[in-house]
Amino acid sequence: PLVLGIETSCDETGIGIVRGTTLLANTIASSMEQHARYGGVVPEVAARAHLEALRPTLDAALAEAGVTLAELDAIAVTSGPGLAGALMVGVGAAKALALALGIPLYAVNHLVGHVGADLLHAPDEPAEPLALPTVALLVSGGHTSLLLVRDLANDVELLGETIDDAAGEAFDKVARLLGLPYPGGPQIDRAAASGDPTAIRFPRGLTAPKDLVRHRDDFSFSGLKTAVARWVEAARDRGEGVSVPDVAASFRESVADVLTAKAIAACQRLGVPRLLLGGGVVANARVRELAQERADAAGITLRIPPLSLCTDNGAMIAALGARLIAEGHEPSALDFGADSTLPVTTIQA
Ligand code: ATP
Ligand code: MG
Ligand code: FE
Repeated sequence: PLVLGIETSCDETGIGIVRGTTLLANTIASSMEQHARYGGVVPEVAARAHLEALRPTLDAALAEAGVTLAELDAIAVTSGPGLAGALMVGVGAAKALALALGIPLYAVNHLVGHVGADLLHAPDEPAEPLALPTVALLVSGGHTSLLLVRDLANDVELLGETIDDAAGEAFDKVARLLGLPYPGGPQIDRAAASGDPTAIRFPRGLTAPKDLVRHRDDFSFSGLKTAVARWVEAARDRGEGVSVPDVAASFRESVADVLTAKAIAACQRLGVPRLLLGGGVVANARVRELAQERADAAGITLRIPPLSLCTDNGAMIAALGARLIAEGHEPSALDFGADSTLPVTTIQA
């Protein structure tokens, strides 16, 4: 089926068009620059930006795919989790389009959409079935979640998640205290390239034996952020210069270490030899490198979709919609709403 996907859960207005698992268009408008001076996504600003960007982004996606609205078979939209006001823009637009076109609408889970990204291939590439079960590590500005996906349409289990800051949020906050601009992830990554990752031993959150009892698959980055702040403060108090590259590299090492160690440990414990990465933090050079190194050592197949499909996008939402249709699921009733805390186990609202 030809499916249009609409994603507005955070600061990206994403419109994707797929035919089954074939990616035809993936158009994105981001309001990131508008949030830069606040150091983080401002919900009201994001919602307004979605409203303005939706129509032009939709037109651009249709042009890219070379299809018209009349040809669409179905629409899929992110109904949660995410920012309530931002989600509402996409949900409202999706309902209006589905009603006007008389086609079915699938309200889907944003996080499961990130897993759906791995279904997609370019028109000139062969289709490759999504190998299941898989463990999925989703790391972005708003989420740090470890999932066990047995069936994309029916069976997704939350193994663990952050108990405080998301991984991307930690990058953004640490960048800020180092005087680097928003978004901080790419800035820290760049600075870290010329730094020494062993210069400072920052804490590894929730990896102590006592934490592994209660929080085996959970993450925590707020203690790490505080440790970096204290370290920088103490160095300045002593009148010493702070090496931004060394702090960035040491901080990045801690995040990459914890993320990959916990994800690989979950694969091993569950006997699942596959790990899928998703979310904007997947752009991080050290996270990718360490994930590959540890997956290879453990005999685990690592899947990382292209970055344009790892960050928030509409194509992954369309792909999940197409999968639900292929597996015979009924469309969503049109009375669903945006749900900012939609649990990952609710794949379709
Ligand atoms: P959501 O959490 O709802 O998916 P989001 O907009 O926060 O939404 P993304 O757009 O996928 O998520 O990711 C943005 C986050 O990724 C930001 O926190 C950013 O700092 C981080 N990021 C981007 N590039 C890198 C990088 N190279 N290293 C580390 N973090 C990065
Ligand atoms: Mg974003
Ligand atoms: Fe996301």
